Amino acid sequence: MTDRLVRALWAEKGLSASIAVVTQAAREGQKLHGLHDVSAMLLGQLLTAGALLVSLQKDQTRVNVQLECDGPLRGMFVDAGADGYLRGYVKNPSLAVEGHHGPMRWRPALGNSGFLSVLKDVGEADYYRSSVELKAMDPAVDLEHYFAASEQVATRIALAVERGPDQPLGAVAGVLVQALPNGDRGALEQLGQGLSARLEQLAAGGASLEGDALLANLLPGFTPMSTLALGWRCNCSKERVLNALSAMGKAELEQLLAEKGGAAASCQFCGKRHEATAEDVKALIAGL
Ligand SMILES: [Zn+2]
Repeated sequence: MTDRLVRALWAEKGLSASIAVVTQAAREGQKLHGLHDVSAMLLGQLLTAGALLVSLQKDQTRVNVQLECDGPLRGMFVDAGADGYLRGYVKNPSLAVEGHHGPMRWRPALGNSGFLSVLKDVGEADYYRSSVELKAMDPAVDLEHYFAASEQVATRIALAVERGPDQPLGAVAGVLVQALPNGDRGALEQLGQGLSARLEQLAAGGASLEGDALLANLLPGFTPMSTLALGWRCNCSKERVLNALSAMGKAELEQLLAEKGGAAASCQFCGKRHEATAEDVKALIAGL
C-alpha cells in the first residue's frame, strides 16, 4: 500500500476531484513524534488536508495548514509540498480520548473554538494567507467552511481515519470535489451527500486503499488525470539552522557566542537536533 494523490475530472459535469491516501505518512508522523492514538488520528487528517490543498496548486509550491483550538490538542500544523512531501506536528502528542463516530467525534480533542489557517506559497516569495473560525470542530467540515468563505469555491471534502486491527491508523484518506466555474452544482451537492460515510466505510472495510481503486469506488464517472506519490519527508538541515541564525544579526550572534558558545535547535517536524558550534557561529559573524 503506497500513499498516493490522484487528480480526476468528470468533464461532462464540470467537476474536478482529488483523492489522497496518506496512511504511511501518517504512521511515520505518529512514530517520529511518539503520538498517542487521537493525536495521531488528527494529525493524519491534517496531513490529508495538506495533500488535498496542495493538489490544487498550479506549480511546484507548498501549502501550510494550521489549526489552533481551545481543546486539549491545542493545535497542529502541516507543511505540504507539491512534490508530494508531507510533514507536520501536533501541540499535544498524548491525546487518547476520542468521541463516538459522528459530528462530535473530535470535539473532546478540539474543544469549542479556534481557527483554521491556510498559507499558500504562490511563488516569487509571495504568500496568500487566509483563516476561518472553527465552527464544526471537525477538520473536514471546517475545511469546507474555509473554501466557502475564503475561496468562494463550492467544495465537498471528506476525511477518513479508521482504526485497523492492530493500530490506530488502519487507513487514512481524503477526497475533495469541486465544481469548475461552469460546473454542475447540483451534481456536486448530490456527490457530497453521504460522501464521508462512504469514504469511512471503504477505509474501515480495509478495501484496497490505492488511490485509483478508491476513485473508482467512490467517484464513478470521474477519469483519473494524474497521480503523485505522497510520503513523509522533512527537509530540515544544519544549513537551514545556520541561515536562521544569520538572520539574528551580528550583535545578537556575538552575545550568543559569549553566553552559550553556540546554538542548538531541534526540528519541530522531525525532532532531529541540529547544532551550530562556536566555530560555526564565528564563521557566521565573520561573514556578516
Ligand atoms: Zn526536520
